[in-house]
Amino acid sequence: MKTEIIAVGTELLLGQIANTNAQFLSAELASAGFHVYHHTTVGDNPDRLLEVMKQASSRSECIIITGGLGPTKDDLTKETAAACIGRKLVYDHRSLDDILNHYKITGKEMSENNKKQALILEGSLVLPNDFGMAPGMVTEAENKTWMLLPGPPSELKPMFRQYGLPALLQKGGKEPVRSRVLRFFGIGESMLEAKLADLIENQTNPTIAPLAGDFEVTLRLSASFYSTEEAERALDETEQRILERAGEFFYGYDDSTLEEQLLKSLQQTATSLSAAESLTGGWFGKSVTDVPGASKSFMGSVVVYNNNMKEKLLGVKAETIQKHGAVSAECAAEMAEAVRQKTGSGFGISFTGAAGPDGDGHAKPGTVYIAISSPQQTDVLPLQLAGSRNRIRALAVKHGLFALHK
Ligand code: ATP
Ligand code: MG
Repeated sequence: MKTEIIAVGTELLLGQIANTNAQFLSAELASAGFHVYHHTTVGDNPDRLLEVMKQASSRSECIIITGGLGPTKDDLTKETAAACIGRKLVYDHRSLDDILNHYKITGKEMSENNKKQALILEGSLVLPNDFGMAPGMVTEAENKTWMLLPGPPSELKPMFRQYGLPALLQKGGKEPVRSRVLRFFGIGESMLEAKLADLIENQTNPTIAPLAGDFEVTLRLSASFYSTEEAERALDETEQRILERAGEFFYGYDDSTLEEQLLKSLQQTATSLSAAESLTGGWFGKSVTDVPGASKSFMGSVVVYNNNMKEKLLGVKAETIQKHGAVSAECAAEMAEAVRQKTGSGFGISFTGAAGPDGDGHAKPGTVYIAISSPQQTDVLPLQLAGSRNRIRALAVKHGLFALHK
């Protein structure tokens, strides 16, 4: 929107005060994406003020005028604007009540002039003044937006932030929307929605929109505030509420992936990782090495698909496999420990399971064991997954990544 600022006041022309209102408004408008093309300063003179207003309306779409809304004779902004756009001035009852109340409470005597401050351009949106007496206003005339704001910076600044800019942004349809995506793994979309049902339903700013895909669920939080700080604060608050209920499934923001998050946390703790893959046949290693720079923390993966390889390469005991089967917690634990020790890594992870369509005699399809071994302990994550062979393998990889990242 082509925007122009008119500052009214002879004291500005005499150099008694600097036009800080125009500077403030320009900075606010620029950061909200408005183009300010002109600053005009004009004295408290109705003819010259009218001339300036006419010129502004001939070249700008949005005209912001500061000063001259007060009670004194030299405050002529509203009268002149009314003449310029052919509008009547009428009393705004709320503002009038506020003024009458003020004089009642303070016990001061009210002159007729003071009532003038409650006059507004007919049909305009009133911007109440919590910091002084004269309200501001916004109105449309011949497709132009006119905004009138009081002169004292202590009134103009907070009022513009509070009502002025949101009103302009609404008209311009440009209220910036800031989004944050929260990523979850290990919980279905419907389960997550059920946990957050009241928040999703009742919250309008930020809004919460769930989206499922690729075994993960994401929540997009979208906040519409003109100020970045306010938007970030609202996003933080909403995120906190969500994480109180579903934090155990959360792993990252925006476009981040489980692989990236895992590598980041390995790097932060200066820990290395190696893998022994049966079920996943190298899929885990492929996923991790898709991220550039993975070699800093990832030593590699051995594919030990058949039992012979598990025994010969890793030293998994023959009796473990005989007794429990290769798809077992015991076998997974030995694989993870062996790959960690043999490579001297901080962590070893292993994948063994029955991807289907048939079981392996001991285990039915979908049975998966993931073991994570560190120098302190070895933990086994038993899973029963469903779906096609590829789905089971892909999901196992994700579960492994997620368990390690935690
Ligand atoms: P009031 O009710 O105080 O009369 P008003 O809306 O009529 O407010 P003015 O009379 O034009 O505003 O200005 C009031 C005071 O606000 C000025 O004396 C000056 O201190 C300050 N002021 C006005 N315009 C500006 C400006 N453009 N930049 C900085 N300060 C300003
Ligand atoms: Mg004044």
